[in-house]
Amino acid sequence: MASDSFSSVALSKAQIANLESLGYKKMTPIQAQSLPLLLKGKDVIAKAKTGSGKTAAFGLALLNSINPRFFGVQALVLCPTRELADQVAKEIRRLARATANIKLVTLCGGKPFGPQVGSLEHGAHIVVGTPGRVQDHLRKSTLNLSGLKVLVLDEADRMLDMGFIEVMNDIINQTPKDRQTLLFSATYPDGIEKMSRSIQRKPVMVTVESEHKPAIIEQLFYEAKKHQRNNTLLALFEHYQPATTVVFCHTKKQCDEVADFLRDNRIDALAIHGDLDQRERDQVLVRFANNSCSVLVATDVAARGLDIKSLHAVINYELPRDPEIYVHRIGRTGRAGEKGIALSIFTPSEQVRVNAIADYQKKPSICDVPESLDRDSGFSLQANMVTIQLDAGRKSKIRPGDILGALTGDAGLAGSQIGKIDIFELSSYVAIERTALREAMNYLSQGKVKGRSIRVRKIR
Ligand code: AMP
Repeated sequence: MASDSFSSVALSKAQIANLESLGYKKMTPIQAQSLPLLLKGKDVIAKAKTGSGKTAAFGLALLNSINPRFFGVQALVLCPTRELADQVAKEIRRLARATANIKLVTLCGGKPFGPQVGSLEHGAHIVVGTPGRVQDHLRKSTLNLSGLKVLVLDEADRMLDMGFIEVMNDIINQTPKDRQTLLFSATYPDGIEKMSRSIQRKPVMVTVESEHKPAIIEQLFYEAKKHQRNNTLLALFEHYQPATTVVFCHTKKQCDEVADFLRDNRIDALAIHGDLDQRERDQVLVRFANNSCSVLVATDVAARGLDIKSLHAVINYELPRDPEIYVHRIGRTGRAGEKGIALSIFTPSEQVRVNAIADYQKKPSICDVPESLDRDSGFSLQANMVTIQLDAGRKSKIRPGDILGALTGDAGLAGSQIGKIDIFELSSYVAIERTALREAMNYLSQGKVKGRSIRVRKIR
């Protein structure tokens, strides 16, 4: 069974204790996939970016191959830039704490040559460097790679982009053929494949499907008197103009009132709460997902089942008493590595809630004042799509292609004017660009879809 515990791979007890002391509790996906192969001495080509934990993956592998009693260069890591080489060296040094007497030297351009020669003369097990400077040392015979066991090309795609191909080949030609070669690259252009074929032996490819970058959520708190809540909300929309937002309220009544208020102020908002029947709920969600509405006003309960990919903003119309609910709410923005914003309105008497949230997250809250928000009197957040409902669905064997075909064929709309199409049991929904709405309605109410006349209406 695949495990993401470091103790499931062939590492020494001392190394596992060291990893624990570094706070590495479990393997990252790239480590879990590549380490078993790397520790067996296989050549690996891995698609991994900075932040994935790739350095520890190859760092642990090369440390495992080194014989500390042999004072010759046994591992070489080539990096495109000095900054990356320094980062890699730092990480490997931390991992090397578990093994006594390992010496690492960095060889980068822009640094004096002499001290590098001195370090090499004292005997180095690992060299981390940039191609140009490593080649210089080879030319001057101050570096000898005849005892190399592991070669790592880190950010190989960038090294190719920077025109290092010939220098790299020159360096690689001076290493033993039976070395282990690891190629790490964020992308796989043709050049990388070609390079892999010429320098690796039976490489195993490792790709991590989804790299979970931590969400970046900017959290801002706006103080407002109770009667200013609505105007502050409007000011937040005008200032940030988020493309998709969920506004959280406590009660169903409040959801309806806030959604009405926003619509009265030219912001396309819909309320979603437990009083809606299934059909109404479906319609709200269809419209939010197909861009006919950019704001949902929801209770916590109603928002629970929402399958929304990533919101640009979450707004707390009122702050919850429980900080955990707050954290859960704001987690809906900034997903998949995108930046999100969480905006919260609080009254002076709710300052305790802000404090509780700051304590819970162990970071100070930033409070801003509504006066600093830009206001634009002509502002509107009208969605550019509108949803049409057709009274035929799966039961009538309607498929998206039938609706698309009718609108682009006989009705003469461009494909780009038609958005998402959702088919339910008894009805279907199609998003149409607002400017093409009349044409689409005219056609659909008079023409035919799949050979039959269908009743249509615009959903409001
Ligand atoms: P990298 O992708 O190699 O630049 O690593 C990104 C960061 O993740 C570095 O700061 C590492 O110290 C850290 N890191 C690497 N592996 C782990 C792990 N298994 N658990 C926690 N942090 C890690």
